[in-house]
Amino acid sequence: MHLLGQTLAQLQELCLNEGFPKFTARQLCDWLYKKRVTDIDAMTNLSLKTRACLKEIVGQGLTQPADVQTSVDGTRKYLFPVGSEPFDAHSFVEAVYIPADDRATLCVSCQRGCRMGCRFCVTGQQGFHGNLDVSQILNQLYAVDVNSDISNIVFMGMGEPLDNYDQVKQALEVLTSEWGLGWSPHRITVSTVGITPMLKRLLDECQCHVAVSLHNPFPDERKSIMPMQKAYPVADTVALLKRYNWYGQRRISFEYTMFKGLNDDINHAAEVVRLLQGLRCRVNLIRFHASPDVPYRPSDEKTMISFRDYLSNHGITATIRASRGEDIMAACGLLAGKGLKN
Ligand code: SF4
Repeated sequence: MHLLGQTLAQLQELCLNEGFPKFTARQLCDWLYKKRVTDIDAMTNLSLKTRACLKEIVGQGLTQPADVQTSVDGTRKYLFPVGSEPFDAHSFVEAVYIPADDRATLCVSCQRGCRMGCRFCVTGQQGFHGNLDVSQILNQLYAVDVNSDISNIVFMGMGEPLDNYDQVKQALEVLTSEWGLGWSPHRITVSTVGITPMLKRLLDECQCHVAVSLHNPFPDERKSIMPMQKAYPVADTVALLKRYNWYGQRRISFEYTMFKGLNDDINHAAEVVRLLQGLRCRVNLIRFHASPDVPYRPSDEKTMISFRDYLSNHGITATIRASRGEDIMAACGLLAGKGLKN
């Protein structure tokens, strides 16, 4: 167990079990989440005896990135080792820092690899190699050198967040609680292929924004690039979202990566309109970034603009997302956890 990522209730239980004074749990939250101190020795208002005891029973400190790359556009990609040595090819995850005029977003990973198997995604081609725990998820936020700039977090890195629900949910609790980092849930977006039962839990338990990976509105075609369509049809995901009242501040978006000749004609746009009718949402059109591991090609600019305009003209807010960090393999679908130079 690592100190970073523990909830107030968990720390209270720990303090009770170890016979620490009751207020120690609040002091720990203050150090961890207000002062962002993770070294127990630096928690100077705890008694020496309490600190010594804590050091014996919990992990502390941060794991620093093993590698950092910076794009010409200012995007930075961080490679973090997870777990213990000896590390192998699957022991690394990546986080991406994306600065913009009005915000700075950190895209975090929640699994080593991914078991969803989306055919266009480099992470998906690696298979699944384990879940990150809550401390490994939050470590990405704490250990990047730009952490004080970060205004938003998106769970869109390696892995499917709803396939590691408990650890992701705990990270969300730490991020948004008054005893934690105290962020508004509207600074956080969780992305999913649409694991419907877990999505329902997320919608019930957290007010963060949600992004659903759509990529094709036709079930058979979607299944051919996203095998999870078979278990969790996107029509069920959309039906679930429609059952909720979307007049609050939660934002629902659909991610649509555009592949040349595969999902980018007007029939697809018309079906997207039909599928999403009645749901207050937006569609983000994403330029596909070609990779040697993946056999698809990107749609051309003109096709993307026509697709966007069709959606917009039929009442769906649609944007073409600016591509970031392509030169350092940090763009959507390219994260592989393989950034070490040797
Ligand atoms: Fe997993 Fe997301 Fe890649 Fe699909 S796109 S394989 S859910 S990481």
